[in-house]
Amino acid sequence: MSAILPPATLGMLGGGQLGRFFVSAAHEMGYQVWVLDPDPHSPAGRIAERHLQAAYDDYAALDELAQGCAAITTEFENVPADTLDYLAKFVTVRPSAAAVSVCQNRIAEKTFLRDHGLPHGAFAPVHAEDDIRNANAGLFPGILKVARFGYDGKGQAVVNDRDEALAAFRAFKGETCILEQKLNLDYEVSVVLARDENGVVKCFPTAENSHRKGILDVSIVPARGSACLRDSAAEYAERIAEKLGYIGTLGVEFFVSRGQLYVNEMAPRPHNSGHYTVDTCITSQYEQQVRALCGLPLGDARAHSAAVMVNILGDLWFEKTDSGEHYREPDWAKLAVVPNLKLHFYGKHHARHGRKMAHFTVVDSDFDRAVKIAMEARAAIG
Ligand code: ADP
Ligand code: MG
Repeated sequence: MSAILPPATLGMLGGGQLGRFFVSAAHEMGYQVWVLDPDPHSPAGRIAERHLQAAYDDYAALDELAQGCAAITTEFENVPADTLDYLAKFVTVRPSAAAVSVCQNRIAEKTFLRDHGLPHGAFAPVHAEDDIRNANAGLFPGILKVARFGYDGKGQAVVNDRDEALAAFRAFKGETCILEQKLNLDYEVSVVLARDENGVVKCFPTAENSHRKGILDVSIVPARGSACLRDSAAEYAERIAEKLGYIGTLGVEFFVSRGQLYVNEMAPRPHNSGHYTVDTCITSQYEQQVRALCGLPLGDARAHSAAVMVNILGDLWFEKTDSGEHYREPDWAKLAVVPNLKLHFYGKHHARHGRKMAHFTVVDSDFDRAVKIAMEARAAIG
């Protein structure tokens, strides 16, 4: 494909914060963006040239998007594969429907890992109660997860034995699930990479992630642990991208258990743990997404500093007092006084518990100092 150059218009399926950062990157690079998202308050839609407020299977809107855009990408994995296939008849779509559909179903994802000899935890597909009754005893204690549409720990239940698994399966209303062995986690890491149409891959430095209530809380870069472990994570992620024939930005989450890496899941889009690339890498994960989409060579993915990224959830807006919970704006002045702290708001309409509203990244040449400053800043607003 010949390169798509500015001021071409690019299409984005999905309009959350990841889409919004893509729009910003594309704008800086001279492109225009149309966003398709049913949410009238879509954070990306608000800053795009056009916001097509329609469902992902609204074919009239898809026709309009295909006619108006030189190439189309996505910011979330749950876009119907049929939508991507349909658009691909008229316009370049990256990543492909085939790659996205592997990542949007946990059973397809784990089966893909198994088929390609990539390390992963033990699992069993659960279509019916008998699959739980017949499951290998080694899967308990386990985690039962709905196969599709889960995110931020939603659609998951820790199940200590078969009875608990049966109860959880019924609570998920018989939806197809996957039963995973619950691993003892030392910690979690992720690799964000970009792969271009010629198969060239650039990995960003491996991040170490901690979660709170199933939602990413803090990412630190570089991840602790050995350089060897960070490098093998990057190699596995690269192998995944290659086997998927992936073009675009890809996030791969890993568990580290007893010093060993296990792939947890893949995200066919930029990743929350890659927000730090905006402030500390020569090229951000969003610029790479634009570059891969447009057939431009990928940028240099090296980081020039250590980074600590802290997610800011809507909970922060709810102050607990003796008389109950009060909605109030957090004291942003506490963050503004930190000179190497970069705060990014997502432009969400209003705060809700558990909703990702903003994040900040502390950028420092010294890793320990970055961690200290970030934790102090978090405590100051928290
Ligand atoms: P989500 O799509 O919600 O991110 P994940 O599969 O990544 O779903 O699960 C969210 C978090 O739950 C993980 O980051 C990890 O902390 C924990 N978790 C998930 N699966 C397992 C497992 N098999 N063993 C141990 N912890 C797990
Ligand atoms: Mg996850």
